Amino acid sequence: MIPTLLPTYNRAPLAFVKGQGSWLETAEGVRYLDLAAGIAVNVLGHANPDLVAVLREQAGRLWHVSNLYRIPEQERLADLLCAATFADTVFFTNSGTEAAELAIKMVRRYWSQAGTPERSEILTFEGAFHGRSTGAIAAAGSEKLVKGYGALMPGFRSLPWGDMAALRAAIGAQTAAVMVETVQGEGGIRPMPDADLKELRAWCDASGALLVLDEVQCGMGRTGRLFAHEWAGISPDIMMVAKGIGGGFPLGALLATETAASAMVVGSHGSTYGGNPLACAVGARVLEIVSDKAFLAEVNRKAALLRQKLEGLVAAHPQVFEAVRGQGLMLGLKCRPEPVDVVRAGHDALVLTVPAADHVIRLLPALTISDAEIDEAVVRLDRAAATLETQQP
Ligand SMILES: *Cc1c(COP(=O)(O)O)cnc(C)c1O
Repeated sequence: MIPTLLPTYNRAPLAFVKGQGSWLETAEGVRYLDLAAGIAVNVLGHANPDLVAVLREQAGRLWHVSNLYRIPEQERLADLLCAATFADTVFFTNSGTEAAELAIKMVRRYWSQAGTPERSEILTFEGAFHGRSTGAIAAAGSEKLVKGYGALMPGFRSLPWGDMAALRAAIGAQTAAVMVETVQGEGGIRPMPDADLKELRAWCDASGALLVLDEVQCGMGRTGRLFAHEWAGISPDIMMVAKGIGGGFPLGALLATETAASAMVVGSHGSTYGGNPLACAVGARVLEIVSDKAFLAEVNRKAALLRQKLEGLVAAHPQVFEAVRGQGLMLGLKCRPEPVDVVRAGHDALVLTVPAADHVIRLLPALTISDAEIDEAVVRLDRAAATLETQQP
């Protein structure tokens, strides 16, 4: 018999009833150190007192009015995002998928308005993940995402990850846009090197193609800059943001330059919930905290500490771990056993991580994780690795 919850997830047999900072607690009072953070969502940890206060205050005042009216909290968050980034304009969504969906629509409409609607090819990359809508799975194109779902939206061409020669050969007069995660998340924590991003930006400029960056997972301070592309000193024309932007409250955003957004007019897109007062009040507080220079400096300091300890972990357990990769507090451990087995061993050692493709487990802790919690995390990962070693043939 089918469960009352549609069985699309292979869930761990864990249920949490309480969270605080980097810790999650079960009903039995067992405490887990959380290096998953709701898949890079809880950037300020669980039950952050500042965010709880903002949410409570807004909840007692006004939740939702729809986009039929002006929403001061939404206007404020848009102003803050535009001041902090390359963007001139923002559309708020409830998720990363919806932001990706709008990115695709914006690109197509841009070329339609330019009088060349046939210029509709969007280049994407193997290992990409942009969400689960029909458009987003067509963009990513992997067998795992598209199997059984019939005819896919046309107009996407997937290129091998890291193959700059293939990318250069593919960008041309027919290219509407290049859409890429600055750091691939689900694909296994694979950063696009700064030099490649710079080249990509130059090739897009030369051909007129729009550069669309998906920073749903790697944005919002995760890599030690507010957005990951800042490390390369370039900026996109369009960018998707979600996950961390609401600190746990569902919120996403599509950021764009005035030029890229120039074809979007009244009636061309919409959302009932997107950018409601509750989400935007929380989002504004998250952004104020995360965009602070001192906060980001701390993220970088702690990231260096965690990385150094993880290098030691890899050296101590060569049968389990091959390498550390990633940037900031978006780190991956390349594993020899199946990643799901390493994640499960972590559960037994009371530490939470996230599996990814390419034989990697992801560490995506709250950006507020403390030095002591970093120490404890590595102790627990070490314990997990030791149990895996004793199971090796
Ligand atoms: C999670 C993710 C998405 C989809 O976001 P949802 O909020 O789950 O719809 C899109 N792109 C990237 C890079 C992601 O990590």
